[in-house]
Amino acid sequence: MKCSSTECTQDAVVRAIEVRNNRLLNNGETLCEEHADKLWEFHLADYRIREGSITKSDVAPRFELELILADQKNQANKVLLRELGNNRLMFFPIGYLEFCVLAAALQESPYNEWTLHVALAKAVKDFGGELCHVIIDDFHPEGYITAKAVFRDRKDLVGFYVGQECDTARAVLRHCPEIVAVQIRPSDGLALGILTGVPFLVAEKVLARIKETGQFGRA
Ligand SMILES: [Zn+2]
Repeated sequence: MKCSSTECTQDAVVRAIEVRNNRLLNNGETLCEEHADKLWEFHLADYRIREGSITKSDVAPRFELELILADQKNQANKVLLRELGNNRLMFFPIGYLEFCVLAAALQESPYNEWTLHVALAKAVKDFGGELCHVIIDDFHPEGYITAKAVFRDRKDLVGFYVGQECDTARAVLRHCPEIVAVQIRPSDGLALGILTGVPFLVAEKVLARIKETGQFGRA
């Protein structure tokens, strides 16, 4: 297959998916390496402010997916996100399977309701909690970014239950902490955010390090 850029005769080796409001902007272009690099650089050089219906979170700045590149030749895939209400960028590599999960999550499909990500959020809800947000919160000592899925007790449900066992009545109290943060791969966290509609956040601490090093984004 040839590159879909006008008058380019090179072979297409990269699938490029542009995203707005967590939906595909197009069905994905297939590009040669050179045009894929140009598209990536175009987004990096773009300082426009991305508006969203909800741009603020009390916890940390909110980001949304803008571009995915899946490079089949070099087996390298990456995502780029833009801050809502600002022009800071975050980008990181993802695996090919995660690229496929994200590409499916961005398409409207009734099957998305039954993915593992949505099942996780529903299970937590059935236990009396809710998924609040996903956040890129830190750097691992080895240099890669880490993310957490954050859950909390729903206010209308109390964090304990009273049970009865055998013929002896026994009250069993199970205290639940109000907030639970579970480590998750950033790419899975991104799919979780898109599939369940919860905000994807990046901690200011991480953005400060990005500003200092230029790695993983443009802050
Ligand atoms: Zn090309």
